[in-house]
Amino acid sequence: MNDSVQARTAVIDACLWMVREGLTFGTWGNISLRLDDDRMLITPSKVPYEEMKPEDLIVMGLNGDILSGSRLPTSERELHRGILASRPDIRAIIHTHSACAMGVSTLDGGIPPLSEEMCQLIGGAVPVTSRFVPSEQHKELGDEVVRTLGDKNALLIRNHGAICCGRSLDEAKVCCQVVEKSARIYLAVKGSGYHPVEEPWVTAGRNYYLYAYGKT
Ligand SMILES: [Zn+2]
Repeated sequence: MNDSVQARTAVIDACLWMVREGLTFGTWGNISLRLDDDRMLITPSKVPYEEMKPEDLIVMGLNGDILSGSRLPTSERELHRGILASRPDIRAIIHTHSACAMGVSTLDGGIPPLSEEMCQLIGGAVPVTSRFVPSEQHKELGDEVVRTLGDKNALLIRNHGAICCGRSLDEAKVCCQVVEKSARIYLAVKGSGYHPVEEPWVTAGRNYYLYAYGKT
């Protein structure tokens, strides 16, 4: 994808959607969009979403270099850079501070695979980082997130929030909705017993979504 006003506007629209959906508020949360194998667009630090303009976004190399933009990229830039550098299949990342995801991030074990939609869109369970890492520890947070994500499409950062990925901004947005819905369901059922989706069906659901959905 070329760096264009359209691409930058799509990122800002996704930021405003995130606020409208109640997935974050204030200047928390952030979004990145892969431009190519080496570069991403990323949202700036400390700019209110409703005031954000296309020129406020930053083009950052996946090697860590700032390539264009006068703003400072989000303090959580290393987790975006680390995911896009290690997962060529991911093109968009949305980081939210949504309530139920944040609640589950305080528990051990993340969200188990509770539904077919989790299997299809996320690849099963949503893992959680094993420890809290402050956002200002950029490199440590990025390393912890990449290690925890593995081959999934979402994860929770301990005591912090959710990271939701996709092959497009639209898919990352649906991922945000599935993660928050699944976290809400898990908080409701975890004390009363539940049946997670069994492993063969987790893999089958993911493969169906990636390779056969809409074709059979
Ligand atoms: Zn955050």
